[in-house]
Amino acid sequence: MGAGPSGLLLAQLLALRGIESVIVEARSREYVEARIRAGVIEHGAVQTLIDAGVGGRLVREGLRHDGIYLQWPGERRRIDFPDLCGQSVYVYGQTEVTKDLINARLADGQEIYWNASDAEVLDLETDQPLIRFVDEQGHLRELRCGLVAGCDGFHGICRPAIPDSLRTDFERVFPFAWLGVLAQVAPSTDELIYAWHPNGFALHSLRSEKISRLYLQVAADESVDAWSDDRIWEELATRFQLDGWSLETGSLLDKSITPMRSFVSAPMRLGRMFLAGDAAHIVPPTGAKGLNLAIADVRRLAEAMTQFLQKDSGELLDAYSDTALQRVWQSTHFSWWMTSMLHAPAPEEPDSAFVRQLQLTQLRNVTSSRAGATWVAENYTGAAYG
Ligand SMILES: Cc1cc2nc3c(=O)[nH]c(=O)nc-3n(C[C@H](O)[C@H](O)[C@H](O)COP(=O)(O)OP(=O)(O)OC[C@H]3O[C@@H](n4cnc5c(N)ncnc54)[C@H](O)[C@@H]3O)c2cc1C
Repeated sequence: MGAGPSGLLLAQLLALRGIESVIVEARSREYVEARIRAGVIEHGAVQTLIDAGVGGRLVREGLRHDGIYLQWPGERRRIDFPDLCGQSVYVYGQTEVTKDLINARLADGQEIYWNASDAEVLDLETDQPLIRFVDEQGHLRELRCGLVAGCDGFHGICRPAIPDSLRTDFERVFPFAWLGVLAQVAPSTDELIYAWHPNGFALHSLRSEKISRLYLQVAADESVDAWSDDRIWEELATRFQLDGWSLETGSLLDKSITPMRSFVSAPMRLGRMFLAGDAAHIVPPTGAKGLNLAIADVRRLAEAMTQFLQKDSGELLDAYSDTALQRVWQSTHFSWWMTSMLHAPAPEEPDSAFVRQLQLTQLRNVTSSRAGATWVAENYTGAAYG
């Protein structure tokens, strides 16, 4: 269920092992391909995409990044990934990962049902679960399957199909959001800048040599309409201000608000249905982990499904939820840690001045200690996860 990165990559990995699958997707191909989201891909996730036969364009057109900058007023310090942990990350838009996966699947003649509506997953605790949906021509379809992968994102139907009594949800909703913009301008930096500022956090990310992606911390209930292009550029320039450095501006191609939430649902299984990616967990984007976690889940799930279908052993499938959740909690912790360190609390919060001093101290600590910087590098690149 779902043609996001999780569903598409799982199907691709299964196809390489000779296992047939059908993807059922609620939206159109155009919508799915245009959805702007993540952009930082861990070392191990890059390798998974290469192994899946869809890494060619990523390696050719993606930008390899060997570090990030952590900034606070008057200071910008670099975390050098190869020096600290021997790995790097790639910057390559999720839109492009999605296009590469869709092209590979269609070239292989495999099925995707776009614009499917009224989907249901049934009989999950039997040997032959049922997926029922209405296809884009309005025909009711019923698919009996060996296994179901719930890759339908946070708002999908698969997680709620696990009864409340069998499921535990863990959640933190942060009291701020990100205003994200896609700008037609060459990046003003060679690597991502994560900036702490009393006005709020700012992130300078990149998509290509001509396109920049930038974010501002805003109030949780903020409206995009409150932010004219001029106001956005002024605020970005304020938060990134550093002597001897300047922010290039350009036209804005897209503006959106992303709520900040940590969410984990356990277990990631009911009978023969297995959850992967955002269907089971959400992280705030500060640690750049959402897409990477989705890729890690499906790498594990593809192996487990293959063992079950081809070797008649359920050992890896039985272990899937517990092993995936270990990695999920590691990334949830790192994302929470980065978020807590970098987002200045609103001045009206009672202990705001105290928390701000702790955040600045944390930034100085991790950038001045090799052990601290190594921990950041290992988590950011995914080296910590093996
Ligand atoms: C606005 C936004 C910004 C983000 N920014 C970042 C970032 O900067 N860095 C980062 O690492 N991560 C980011 N993420 C997270 C990252 O994009 C996700 O972790 C990633 O998309 C997860 O992939 P997925 O395939 O599990 O889920 P999704 O990409 O959500 O895909 C799920 C698919 O299922 C489909 N679907 C839903 N319901 C049904 C149904 N009933 N029937 C059939 N299909 C259905 C959906 O249409 C969708 O195509 C962001 C997420 C959002 C929402």
